[in-house]
Amino acid sequence: MSGPVLPGATLGVLGSGQLGKMFAIAARRLGYRIHVLSPDDDTPAGQVADREIRAAYDDLDAVADFARGVSVVTFEFENVPLAAAETVERHAPIRPHGSVLHTTQHRVREKRFLERVGVPLAKFAEIGSRDELHSAMARMGCPAVLKTSEWGYDGKGQAKIDSLGDVDTAWDSLANSSAVLEAFVDFEYEVSVIVARSVSGQMVTYGPIANAHHRHILDVSVFPSPADQRTVVEATRIAQHICAELDAVGVICVEFFVRGNGDLLVNEIAPRPHNSGHLTIDACTTCQFEQQVRAICGLSLGASTPHRPAAMANLLGDLWFPAAPNWENMLRFADAKLHLYGKSEARPGRKMGHITALGETPQLAERRVREARQALSVDSHPA
Ligand code: AMP
Repeated sequence: MSGPVLPGATLGVLGSGQLGKMFAIAARRLGYRIHVLSPDDDTPAGQVADREIRAAYDDLDAVADFARGVSVVTFEFENVPLAAAETVERHAPIRPHGSVLHTTQHRVREKRFLERVGVPLAKFAEIGSRDELHSAMARMGCPAVLKTSEWGYDGKGQAKIDSLGDVDTAWDSLANSSAVLEAFVDFEYEVSVIVARSVSGQMVTYGPIANAHHRHILDVSVFPSPADQRTVVEATRIAQHICAELDAVGVICVEFFVRGNGDLLVNEIAPRPHNSGHLTIDACTTCQFEQQVRAICGLSLGASTPHRPAAMANLLGDLWFPAAPNWENMLRFADAKLHLYGKSEARPGRKMGHITALGETPQLAERRVREARQALSVDSHPA
């Protein structure tokens, strides 16, 4: 095995959104150079990278060129085609390796993997046709959720089925040949655990972090979550088990449903830093992005110790309408931290930034972050 990739070297990122940007900022602080590749230009990550390469992920010549110019590659976007990851692997290590991408970018493969390694899941069925959906619904009953196998995120590619009369509409709305039908889980709340794993197999975790969604998009995350000690230990154990079984080097996130009795069901995994972990930037000794840098470079991980309870609120493009957010007013909250991703166009539902606040208790941190976000909607020019 070759030695660690040390500060001064150049790291490559496939994908150039906000996760790539926060990774690049952490890497630059540690003295690395950054090259990013994505099909877009003027991207969040490109704004802080040394080199922004605009190319399609299936332009394998461009991907090979990019890989030859860096010491190690990671990704911030799990829908990078496997062929791109394999091309990178011929020139530079890619971490996590391509097989982690392959497993996690397809819901059926991900469910089969989780089932094989003995992780608790909601009841599910693999669906390949309308007829299979009808017979699975007859077995599973209502309510249920139909999810596409590929390209689903933030609730996209999902349809809830409340009655047997919804089955055909749900199938038509996904227009897909591969899907998963899941029993609808009557959960108490949702949590995530983020795991960083080094080349040597060392692991550190964050969480569980409590996550509240609005219209299927993460809205507010709070740490610590209301989970009791038994649930904390079990969620951490399951997340580490998944990371080790994937043999992932880097950062992964495991999302759980927590039921009323404290039982856990794994919802899904992301093979990269996660939106719910953004609060680690302001709340922990080492944030999830610095762990990603350390892990992919073959270095020791940092301490994930939290300074205080913390909460994060997402800023979606909706806040830009009908008028731009009132930054001046929000920035009066002296203990709230604003993170904007530098996206040139705001669209409803698009993640434009987030705010983090710390507090003496998780409830106080959450109240502060919600108040700070609310301040963005105050009209700066009262009539
Ligand atoms: P996903 O894209 O699978 O993470 O789903 C987005 C959100 O939809 C989750 O965080 C849950 O709030 C909700 N959801 C997804 N699947 C289920 C399910 N089987 N039962 C209940 N709620 C679900």
